[in-house]
Amino acid sequence: MLRTDIHTHTTFSADGRSSIDEMIAAAIEKNIAYYGIAEHFNYDYDRLHLSIDGQEVPPIDEEAYFSRARALQRQLKGKLHLLVGAEFGYDNESSVLQRYICTQEKYSPDFVVNSVHTCLGMDCYFPHYCNGKSKEYAYNAYLYRVLESLDAPYRYDIVAHIGYCSRNATYADPKLRYEDFSDVLDEILKRIIVRGKILEVNSSAKTAGSPFIPDTDILERYFELGGRMVSFASDAHDISRVADKRDLVVAALKKAGFTYITVPDRGKYLQIPLD
Ligand SMILES: [Zn+2]
Ligand SMILES: [Zn+2]
Repeated sequence: MLRTDIHTHTTFSADGRSSIDEMIAAAIEKNIAYYGIAEHFNYDYDRLHLSIDGQEVPPIDEEAYFSRARALQRQLKGKLHLLVGAEFGYDNESSVLQRYICTQEKYSPDFVVNSVHTCLGMDCYFPHYCNGKSKEYAYNAYLYRVLESLDAPYRYDIVAHIGYCSRNATYADPKLRYEDFSDVLDEILKRIIVRGKILEVNSSAKTAGSPFIPDTDILERYFELGGRMVSFASDAHDISRVADKRDLVVAALKKAGFTYITVPDRGKYLQIPLD
């Protein structure tokens, strides 16, 4: 079986902990055939002047990332399909959207992961996003932002980690369930299908109450609506998590009826059998 892990990070991202060489060595060791790096392009963070633990988040050195990753891609030909991608942090501000369009034109990443990280003026990954908000309000605000992100004007391939706001949520029951948010989730899933995008299954779930996000109930609904394109992402930021829980995700996908994983590569969508 060809193994894939399409959304990972290295120290080119501010929060990455292993170098690009170390991450690639781990991918080869774990028998990954298609390995994607999707470094953070956080123009949403820049606009909101967000910091983490009082520290400003340094921007990615775009030039250094693409030139090093492209060199490794050429070097590894025949050994590993390395995909040089980008994770765009969605924002509805036109200047931010324009910056993403320019970056895409300048560097032509092999694929783009479209992600909602910021919502209601903050990064909804952090526990304080829940402060003073009901779960219903906090999750709906996030999900409507995801819905809006599907109309982003830049080209993107993958809709990332639906349920991101639950990763560190402080609610007694943090799990994002289809039944609790079925209207907006249906709109999101239908729009992913109509737009021909790939729904990501992300195994970095922290304390979301699910082993991966989105969980099986949402994946089953996507399948029921006709969605067939899914990708696997460990979202690893260090070598220990490369391909983490891949077998679990593959088993869940097969059980839900999916027969292949989709790998985006410069506009082409490869179907890798889930056998
Ligand atoms: Zn992300
Ligand atoms: Zn990521």
